[in-house]
Amino acid sequence: MAAARTFRVHELGCKVNQWEGQWLREGLEALGLEEAAADGPADLFLVNSCSVTESGGSKSRHSVRHFMRRNPAARVIVTGCYAESDRDEVAALPGVVRAFGNQEKGEIVPWVARALLGMDGELPELPRGISRFAGHTRAFVKIQDGCRDHCAFCIIPSLRSRIESRPVDEIVAEVETLVARGHKEVVLTGVHLGYFGWDRDEPRAIKDLLGRLAGLPGLQRLKLSSIEVHEIDEELVDLFAGHPVFVPHFHLPLQAGSDATLRRMRRRYNLARFREAVALLRARLDDPALTTDLIVGFPGETAADFDESMAFCAEMAFAKMHVFPYSVRRGTAAEAMPGHLPAAEIARRKKIAAELDDRMAEAYRRRHLGRIVPVLAEERAGLVPGTLTGLSDRFLRVDFPAGDELMNRIVRLRLEALDGDRLRGRLVDEVEVAGA
Ligand code: SF4
Repeated sequence: MAAARTFRVHELGCKVNQWEGQWLREGLEALGLEEAAADGPADLFLVNSCSVTESGGSKSRHSVRHFMRRNPAARVIVTGCYAESDRDEVAALPGVVRAFGNQEKGEIVPWVARALLGMDGELPELPRGISRFAGHTRAFVKIQDGCRDHCAFCIIPSLRSRIESRPVDEIVAEVETLVARGHKEVVLTGVHLGYFGWDRDEPRAIKDLLGRLAGLPGLQRLKLSSIEVHEIDEELVDLFAGHPVFVPHFHLPLQAGSDATLRRMRRRYNLARFREAVALLRARLDDPALTTDLIVGFPGETAADFDESMAFCAEMAFAKMHVFPYSVRRGTAAEAMPGHLPAAEIARRKKIAAELDDRMAEAYRRRHLGRIVPVLAEERAGLVPGTLTGLSDRFLRVDFPAGDELMNRIVRLRLEALDGDRLRGRLVDEVEVAGA
């Protein structure tokens, strides 16, 4: 079989998988392989799969079969959480020449070099990180892997078990490269950011890292992809409040607004601790965007628990609430728990929660009408030139009249009108964040 010359990388799932896909992409390029056009023919297809829900596997299978129908002579490598959870199933998929678990991702590119390209002797230097984030305005930077918590609904700790924090100097150098490449915003991501530094016994690691990154020349925006409320303290909030590079948007997964459900979920905080963290953020920052994840219909969630959950979410007044109907995940503690709800009831609760999300999100948008806000212009709002769209520092989607020359620039807009789940704005001027 002829040596591979072109490849495609397909990432499913979380921001960590997106970062790893880019890292693998750059590794294959270092071997001299060329990335094929999206959806174009390729000799090698590398899938970084997801398995957070039962449907994660079917999406990965679908992408492999779809690719192989169009490229019957190609070879496929599957890695990621589905390869970790269902290795034999993966190995049986058409075209799959190798499955690599999450801990084996560093072996993929050398294996391609030896086994598929016939390279022997010393391999070219392979990247330890990424130098660009292809096709994205904001760049994700993976800083850690693994989680030691065991939330009852979550399979991740058994698929990404080892806590691994990247060296701080490597992360800082990567962010510098991404900024030099034109990325204005960096989102630090991981499986559980709160464990950054845990494997080096450095409890302050995340604060030290944020402090170092805050002063980086040219970096306009920095944020964490998510943070658990029990990991928020005054010092961390002061850090966020102390430098304009930190955008006032915090993703705080709540999962349930009832202490009874939180206990059964084995989450590490209660409603009082959540309320406290939110109060601290709101006391130190000007109306920050607080977004969250909520599971509805968790086993044993009574009608009263659900009502309490809705009341708590309304009290927290989230800017955005991602609502997930509970679905059984094989291998989690919740799978064996009593009190699984009928699908119709879970769907009913999802509808109610989604309506609450719409009301809260609209209230948050409305509260910002008339304000002048910084927006990172991402792309055209539609196909017609003349209108761009972007996200404000408080995660508000804004469309505004402007030419393409302002793409990937941070501009100040006056928010003039609501427009469905977006806002419409008008250009005031272009800004550069102080000290950046
Ligand atoms: S904190 Fe809980 S939900 Fe998050 S990855 Fe760990 S076990 Fe999963």
